[in-house]
Amino acid sequence: MLSKIIAESLITDTRQYIENANNIIIITHISPDGDAMGSALGVYHFLSSLNKKASIVVPNKFASFFNWMPAATDIFIYEVQEEKINQLISVADLIIMTDFNTLSRIGALQEIIEKFTGDKILIDHHRNPDLNIANIIISYPHISSTSEIVFRLIYRMGFSETMNNCCATSIYTGMMTDTGAFTFNSNNPEIYFIISELLTKGIDKDQIYNNIYNTYSADRLRLMGYALTAKMEVLDEYKTAIITLTADELEHYNYQEGDTEGFVNLPLSIKGVVCSILIKENTTHVKLSFRSRGSFPVNLIASNYFHGGGHINAAGGESYESINQTFKRVKEILPLYKEQLNSID
Ligand code: 5GP
Ligand code: MN
Repeated sequence: MLSKIIAESLITDTRQYIENANNIIIITHISPDGDAMGSALGVYHFLSSLNKKASIVVPNKFASFFNWMPAATDIFIYEVQEEKINQLISVADLIIMTDFNTLSRIGALQEIIEKFTGDKILIDHHRNPDLNIANIIISYPHISSTSEIVFRLIYRMGFSETMNNCCATSIYTGMMTDTGAFTFNSNNPEIYFIISELLTKGIDKDQIYNNIYNTYSADRLRLMGYALTAKMEVLDEYKTAIITLTADELEHYNYQEGDTEGFVNLPLSIKGVVCSILIKENTTHVKLSFRSRGSFPVNLIASNYFHGGGHINAAGGESYESINQTFKRVKEILPLYKEQLNSID
């Protein structure tokens, strides 16, 4: 059995909104990760099993290693299908948003969603959601993935019997990716109750793991080798490692969306490293990814200095300075956290 984490009133209200809706749009965040894809597709397959008309919309292209996910190729991408998406939203009566807490996380879709006058539901696990973001805010930051919250919602609404394999597969993918294949934020026994329920839906969890983690290109592995050998700086004094990758370097290794996924986690396998930072030069800006162990709150660095946010151990942000300038900036910031970094084993 699952404990009742989601408030009863939110369950009843969500059920009502879904019953009343005829055209539903599901939206998730820019450069969707596994949990964004899993939660959005989980909601999509759930709605489809209720014979509700639903479409998923994302701001930009997602990594090709998500293409195998059931119905991933039916997702509408705003940067390539703007007109179609505007039309879909213009006839929508309900928007369900998953895995983000502020509209700035949906890029160019922000303005359209702000203008949307219909009902909105947010399902998320990031801290401090914008309170005017939706009519119904289902936000539980202590739950390790939004996909898990989607499961809990479906279960509590009384639809777990009708959950299909596609829905279960999507939810499992998000739960797995947001916990590093159940290696962090995953000590809650109820996670394994949920997995056991998902297995009864016939999911192949070993295949899901393979589909996500064992389908990279040779170029991506070479880029990883290059990043670790030539571009990783370990700052013992701050128990921190920083990897930088310029746009030219990425291009040299035939960079595809998603290729650097997971790089930022690698330095945490070094004994004594508590904080890892990946600084990557995109075409329009510099993207930073942060990871930490223990109580070091990388989300504070992301939000205080780099227009970003996230979770205590996994966060991200952006910089509009050059990559070299950004690298310098990071090195200026680290001394402010020296004591805190060194207090963690
Ligand atoms: P990643 O490093 O995998 O891109 O992101 C890790 C986590 O940090 C994400 O799950 C998300 O919660 C958060 N995050 C990443 N980039 C941003 C950003 O630009 N803004 C905010 N607010 N959060 C971000
Ligand atoms: Mn998530």
